[in-house]
Amino acid sequence: MKFFGVVGWKNSGKTGLVERLVREMVARGLSVSTIKHAHHSFDVDHPGRDSHRHRLAGASQVMLSSRKRWALMTEHRAKRPEAEFRDLASKLDKVDIVLVEGFKSQPIPKIEAHRQATGQPLLALKDAHVLAVASDQAGLSCKQPVFELNDTRAIADFILAHVGLTRTAPRPTAGLEQDCFALPPGVDWVPVDAALAQLRSRLRSVVEGQNLVPVAQAAGRVLADDAKAMRASPPLPNTAVDGYGFAAPQIEAGQSLSFDLLDGHAGPGAPFKGVVRAGQAVRVLTGGPLPDGVQTVALQEHVRLQGGRLHVNGPLKSGENTRKAGEDLMAGDVILPQGRVLAPQDLALLTSGGLGHVPVRPILRVGVLSTGNELTKAAPEPDPAQIFDANRPMLLSMVRAWGYEAVDLGICADDRFLISKTLSAATDQVDVLITSGGASAGDEDFLADVLAELGKLHSWRIAIKPGRPLAMGQIGPMAVFGLPGNPVAAFVCALLFARPALAVLSGADWPQPQGFMVPAGFSKSKKAGRREYLRARMDADGHVQRFQSEGSGRVSGLSWADGLVELPDQAMAVSPGDMVRFLPYGSFGLNAG
Ligand code: AMP
Ligand code: MG
Repeated sequence: MKFFGVVGWKNSGKTGLVERLVREMVARGLSVSTIKHAHHSFDVDHPGRDSHRHRLAGASQVMLSSRKRWALMTEHRAKRPEAEFRDLASKLDKVDIVLVEGFKSQPIPKIEAHRQATGQPLLALKDAHVLAVASDQAGLSCKQPVFELNDTRAIADFILAHVGLTRTAPRPTAGLEQDCFALPPGVDWVPVDAALAQLRSRLRSVVEGQNLVPVAQAAGRVLADDAKAMRASPPLPNTAVDGYGFAAPQIEAGQSLSFDLLDGHAGPGAPFKGVVRAGQAVRVLTGGPLPDGVQTVALQEHVRLQGGRLHVNGPLKSGENTRKAGEDLMAGDVILPQGRVLAPQDLALLTSGGLGHVPVRPILRVGVLSTGNELTKAAPEPDPAQIFDANRPMLLSMVRAWGYEAVDLGICADDRFLISKTLSAATDQVDVLITSGGASAGDEDFLADVLAELGKLHSWRIAIKPGRPLAMGQIGPMAVFGLPGNPVAAFVCALLFARPALAVLSGADWPQPQGFMVPAGFSKSKKAGRREYLRARMDADGHVQRFQSEGSGRVSGLSWADGLVELPDQAMAVSPGDMVRFLPYGSFGLNAG
């Protein structure tokens, strides 16, 4: 448990600050308790009240309990010394943070409340545990950071960052609309495109704030702001080849010019110090800044050196084999936009633009939960009636591959109470929850009911094969995707719906998978109504083959395939050689294996 103290002299505003901090932290979803050291009788001990009367009557401990709360008051009877802070703290139930008011001498991190009017010296001057001051006096001078006494948000940020609880700070004032998954009235089966368009228009980032990280560590992170080049690239005009530089007009075909070759050279990072005048030339190496006076570079293979003279044959255009300053980037150019998921090549671009650090979004936290009485973890002697939970490792690793923090929430039985408890608890841990199983309308499918009870639920009957109703919901700020239990359907629905939705929730742009029209190596006919996704792979002749079975229980087909063939909503008859749309797994940010 984390402890953080608030100290200060009488009338310094401690109690008000603790009260505001409790309110702020609770609003951020944290559980908070307080311990207060009082020099006087406290409310529970109010004269004339029961607790006071019981105590006066001689009770050692007085416990007050009502439907809403209880309090325990213990008397220091006889010569018992004042209770130790440690003993008091051990009596508290586990919470995220305990705010401690008073207890000046305790070696716990503290903030000092301070009011100028009290005229008291700062405790912060002497107590190394006082890490910051919250004061009503502007410009107070001390070595610790000074906050405005009423700036509760900033003080809470400071305390939570110190105790390492920043991750549970509330994201979503910028979050989702109240009921972002609701379908227009009367809509039943939703075509895939309509479902995607709805997600795209309704979702937005639920991660707030930004962290500045070194460019070298920024791969996979979402850019929180437009990145602008700090300087031009290349910063100076330079040579694109190894050769000889000189000032020369165009040299026509058949024409030959000769130059005096100067001593020295211009190499990468090592400019030539002198000036190259008309009739002179100098050795230049690829990447070396063009020396003063040089406009054109001749390739070393195209010149002849004889007795200190350089002979160059035309044709050679003025400016040939050189690069202009800023020809790639100019200082101030937006080189990458906010919302970009940074790829390795982007790190090269940012670095070329002179950026050492970039602002990125905090990482989205995504929980993965499997539901089903039949599910078990891989074990040496499993009950034959049980099946292994295939979805969780698959979905967790998809979440990781997409750059998010994956939180394993385990397996939950088909039990309304357990599911409700697990979903409620998840709201404290993750920004988004992906569940699989239990989302349809069977006797043991409780997910939809529980979602409806705890928050908002929308079951989308999407016109897609494989896939059954997709439950989408919100519990407080947490978005929930209820995928089908069937691993093949769960995989396809995760790629098509969860992936772009997670991207937007993480602050990134909506990703559009790249598809390619390729000739089919199979025949198949389909009816109108549902869009179909076939497990497929490219063969050596450039045809796409499909997995032999369309049974959605056939997990082996997912590994056999290296992508999906997408067949349109309309009826279609495919014959070998017909062009079909192939979406490689790589288009969804996954390895094909
Ligand atoms: P449900 O959506 O819960 O009705 O499950 C549909 C089918 O998928 C059933 O045959 C389940 O046993 C199976 N299933 C559900 N969850 C998983 C899982 N995590 N791993 C493997 N199979 C699953
Ligand atoms: Mg089930």
